[in-house]
Amino acid sequence: MEKIQSLTGMMDLIEDKANKADTANGIFYTENILKDIFETYSILEIRTPALEDSSLFKRSVGDTSDIVNKELYSFTDKNDKSITLRPEGTASVIRSIIEKKIDNESNKFWYLGPMWRYERPQKGRYRQFSQAGVEILGYSEGIAELEIVSIICSINKALGIENSILKINHLGDKESKEKYCNALKNFLMPLSSKLDKKDIQRLNTNPLRVLDSKSSETQEILKDAPKINDFLTDQSIDLLNLVKNTFSEECNIEIDHTLVRGLDYYTGFVFEAVSSDLGAQDAYLGGGRYDDLCKQLGGKDLPAIGMAIGIERLSLLTKTYKKNRTLISFIIISSNLEPKAYKIAHNLRSINSSIDIDVQLSDGSLKSKLRRANKDNASYAFIIGEDELKSENIIVKSLNDENSEQIIMNISEIENFIQNIK
Ligand code: AMP
Repeated sequence: MEKIQSLTGMMDLIEDKANKADTANGIFYTENILKDIFETYSILEIRTPALEDSSLFKRSVGDTSDIVNKELYSFTDKNDKSITLRPEGTASVIRSIIEKKIDNESNKFWYLGPMWRYERPQKGRYRQFSQAGVEILGYSEGIAELEIVSIICSINKALGIENSILKINHLGDKESKEKYCNALKNFLMPLSSKLDKKDIQRLNTNPLRVLDSKSSETQEILKDAPKINDFLTDQSIDLLNLVKNTFSEECNIEIDHTLVRGLDYYTGFVFEAVSSDLGAQDAYLGGGRYDDLCKQLGGKDLPAIGMAIGIERLSLLTKTYKKNRTLISFIIISSNLEPKAYKIAHNLRSINSSIDIDVQLSDGSLKSKLRRANKDNASYAFIIGEDELKSENIIVKSLNDENSEQIIMNISEIENFIQNIK
């Protein structure tokens, strides 16, 4: 019969017991480290549904973004309602706090989960991918920017990421952004015959997004265009310098006035972390301030800043991966001994929570079970046969050292042995 395949751009993650830092193990490890970091900043978890009313993303991420233009997974449900698999997390978080009527409060939330975008799959770009995000809500420009960058530095440090640049920019306060957009429009309008259709559309709806154009012709034209830094207030420039100087010893921070980010809702401070180790898709996290979004979605006037981290890309950069738990493969020689022998394994597990005891549940010869134990990268095999069960002993075989002799230990010796495994 024809086999059913996973959908294009969507992957299965299967943890590997032999502990190699392959895709799945690296991703799970990276996710756990991120959760620990978020906890140390006293950030609370928030979980929102994967499916949302389609209009949520149209009204937040915006009509000029690639995401809304061509990448949404949108369907009509049985009631003819248009629903969409979330392409990012921020819009849902804001929808949720408005619905829960906590959009007048200061809060810090983190989330982690799958996102969907109908993109052309390539290395580091999938149709289903995971993002961890942080949203710092209710704080105006200032210390919240420092907190976000502090979290990024902590992530880089915990995961051993050194080859990375954190690009930061400021899109200006309301007045300077408006002045700059007008200047950009006035400069580009007479040249619009040289721009492609998409850039002309952006020019009319959100001129800043033209700076993000993929067209080389547009980029060539932009070389002579007005620059945002000539329009920024001292306060905006000071903020960029403050962030850079505060963390310059820990993070490689660069002020990049061409950085605009792909989503429509950003205002003020924006950033993106890139690493040349990732190849073409080099951004592993990004975000910025979005002070108008909550109001735009029908809520209160709530200043906010946040970021989204691409888990698959971040885990490719993770250098600290090492699973330091010891695995014991527990081998019961004959199936009529199983319940009693199993109970021994059950009791041993409670002695030391930093070791894993894997009772081999299948039938099979001692030889095949030892082969399996080696394949799983177990450090020890504990073997129980009829004689051992009667005499309350266990055979302990070290699998790390081929030449070591196997040792017979009684229960109290084995308890002591397990207690001392680090
Ligand atoms: P964005 O929500 O577009 O600002 O993206 C934030 C981060 O999510 C990016 O820096 C990437 O690391 C990651 N990301 C975005 N789109 C994809 C994708 N299609 N596949 C894998 N990672 C992605």
